[in-house]
Amino acid sequence: MADKGNPSKIEELKRSSNFLRGTIAQEVADTSVPTVSEDSANLLKTHGTYQQDDRDHRGDVKAFSFMVRSRVPGGKVTAAQFLAELDICDQFANGTLRITDRQGFQLHGVLKTSLKETIRGINAIKLSTLAACGDVCRNVMACPAPIKNSPVFAQMQKLADDLAHHFRPRSNAYYEIWLKDDEENSELVHSEVPEHEPIYGATYLPRKFKIGIALPEDNCIDIYTQDMGYLAVVEGGKIVGYNLLVGGGMGMTPAKKTTFPALAKQMAFITPDQVLTVGEAVVKVQRDFGNRTDRKQARLKYLIHEQGLPWFKAKVEEYYGAPLPGPRNVDVSDVDDHIGWHEQGDGNLFLGINIENGRLKDEGPLQLKKMFRVLLGKYGMETRLTALQGVILCDIDPKDRADIDRILTEHGCKRAEELTLARRYSISCPAYPTCGLAVTESERVMPDIMDALEAEMAKHGLLSERISVHMTGCPNGCARPYTPDIGLVGKARGKYTLYLGGNAQGTRLAFLYEDMVPQEELPVKLSPIFAKFKTGRHTGESFGDFCHRVGKEGLV
Ligand code: SF4
Repeated sequence: MADKGNPSKIEELKRSSNFLRGTIAQEVADTSVPTVSEDSANLLKTHGTYQQDDRDHRGDVKAFSFMVRSRVPGGKVTAAQFLAELDICDQFANGTLRITDRQGFQLHGVLKTSLKETIRGINAIKLSTLAACGDVCRNVMACPAPIKNSPVFAQMQKLADDLAHHFRPRSNAYYEIWLKDDEENSELVHSEVPEHEPIYGATYLPRKFKIGIALPEDNCIDIYTQDMGYLAVVEGGKIVGYNLLVGGGMGMTPAKKTTFPALAKQMAFITPDQVLTVGEAVVKVQRDFGNRTDRKQARLKYLIHEQGLPWFKAKVEEYYGAPLPGPRNVDVSDVDDHIGWHEQGDGNLFLGINIENGRLKDEGPLQLKKMFRVLLGKYGMETRLTALQGVILCDIDPKDRADIDRILTEHGCKRAEELTLARRYSISCPAYPTCGLAVTESERVMPDIMDALEAEMAKHGLLSERISVHMTGCPNGCARPYTPDIGLVGKARGKYTLYLGGNAQGTRLAFLYEDMVPQEELPVKLSPIFAKFKTGRHTGESFGDFCHRVGKEGLV
């Protein structure tokens, strides 16, 4: 709760920053040093950028650069935006573009001298980096499937846009610092309007706040890991409302026993006309009662854990101004990664392309940037980014299918039928060399780990099983490692905590199976468990369900 001590240093920083300005403008303009101060680096997060240094080359002199994240509600990206992000990554970043597991784009290696041009370039294509990071509502996730013969998918995408708009920071700081002298965006600069943050107030939220929208039969955005989740209740082919989930969150600090990953809890049923007002009440209760003294206890999950769901619901009702009914009897039942060819319901097709770890690059026979330039340059289709770091190409005329398949093959990109389900349902965070919090590798070793796991699965005849694997380079859990069938969480250099017993649907927390497992021993540890699963599973039982049923003692 907010009154348990003095506000943290970051709270004081936010309060005195004049709505996220601080001295960012002056420090970014100063080209004599490659960095900004710690205060400015913290404020810059809400502007969508993190100051980082190259972890591979930490010597006497650090090599500093910036990560820049684009906020993309529901993962909707036009061909022009996609192509422009590819150009920006070549011009200002390290030549790669990363699709995040929250349906956004991420650039790495942007130098301070290019930061302004990078952010302006992203705004020029009508995307934004504002609120992609920081203590605010971040990118709103929604199922990206471009299905046209049901209004449900368009409704969810519209809600993502509405929520993103509703919860955007109102401060003019972003426009003043990055866009002010940009004619294209001049209408966005309202410096004569008195500064006011009607939802957040001057100190914004105690911590980051994540929102997602899902369908019961397709929890592709991992709704139980969100601070606030809208689970669609569908009747007669239409969304009649949402079960509102609150208090999910993955991060934890093993040394601090009061921290833990948590699944969101179903709190209430709300109708479509209540989605913004009740959502705002949830955010404001967290704003006013969330912990502002200790950032490790500041996520909404800790407030709900401390006060209980009935207290939290009553507070939300008080802020909203009316009681809310309990949730409907609706829950997540399945998940779809949307990879491969699918009918989209209007005679056209969509194609989901798996991008390993979300990294778009041209390397050896795998020429992903070139491939998207050819595909989007030729066909100009809309795209969607998925929460499993893939890309959906929309609105494809069936007659173009063979040509598109050919383009994929020519650029070394594997099609759905060439990938195991384990590979399709695997994701990782960036970790080394860019993330300042990483304790070990994630993205860079994930392909080798998946090769080794696939080899073990093959030995036991399990290659057709959907076994989800999420990996992170530290316990902060950015790639949601505490809910899949197998979670690999970096604990020390080259060593991982192995979690088992979650599921691909994301409805259950995994349990800690073994700590400090060296990377090279992960397949050896998992092989006998695969063997037990093969012989001991019930009909139709998934790997995660089996591990959950048998438990740690039964697996050892
Ligand atoms: Fe960095 Fe840890 Fe997040 Fe990975 S999980 S991106 S290592 S903070």
